[in-house]
Amino acid sequence: MEVQVLFWAFLDMLPSLKSGGNFFFGPPDMTLRINEIFFSIQGESTWVGAPCIFVRLAGCPLRCNYCDTEYAFREGSPRTIDSLVDEVMANPCRLVEITGGEPLAQRNVHALIGRLLDAGRTVLIETSGAIDTEPVDRRAHIILDIKTPDSGESHRMQWANLDRLQPHDEVKFVIASRGDYEYARETTTQHQLIQRCRAVQFSPVHEQRAGLEILGARGLAPRELAAWILADQLDVRLQLQMHKFIWDPQTRGV
Ligand code: SF4
Repeated sequence: MEVQVLFWAFLDMLPSLKSGGNFFFGPPDMTLRINEIFFSIQGESTWVGAPCIFVRLAGCPLRCNYCDTEYAFREGSPRTIDSLVDEVMANPCRLVEITGGEPLAQRNVHALIGRLLDAGRTVLIETSGAIDTEPVDRRAHIILDIKTPDSGESHRMQWANLDRLQPHDEVKFVIASRGDYEYARETTTQHQLIQRCRAVQFSPVHEQRAGLEILGARGLAPRELAAWILADQLDVRLQLQMHKFIWDPQTRGV
């Protein structure tokens, strides 16, 4: 059994060694707990508007007040990395987002990321900032969500993740209030985020229809956030979640 594992580990290393990426040990039938896979329009980041395949991993160690994917905490079933790669590669779309939940909470995700990158896909990783990004293949594009105070989880941030940001990575703040905005503004300045990555996105918590509000999180009017950004002449981007305007905000798999 030991010999078999070493053999697969060696095979796994070959393409990544050639490209300078990370490599991960494990047989090819290793699994991930997957919540859903779907093909849609990218609704966030500088890739907004582009067709994209989303692989949503199940589970998250955080409990943000405004979380809009709570269903991913519990719902999910195991899938082999091979079957995931096959499904993604069956679609000619070259843009893939690995999301959650918190995708980096499952260690086997690095094998999936490496396989998709080796196959020539552009891979975006949407992560909360609470998990060490050091093992992430440097060819992937990290979209680092820095949790603001109103999330209730800002204390979980691993600040060393900022030191690992590359010019092609992005940072996102989800903002629910003036206090969140000021926190995002100070963090952006203090850590020189605009100079260190591709874009800094300020995203208001999406306003929900009466009766459908996410418990514990008020929405923030985009116009209010726009006024604050302009008043402070911040070189950040106002980000609206495009998919919530195309489809009903409660719709899954879009
Ligand atoms: S990190 Fe993301 S998935 Fe996890 S609780 Fe926060 S918003 Fe939800």
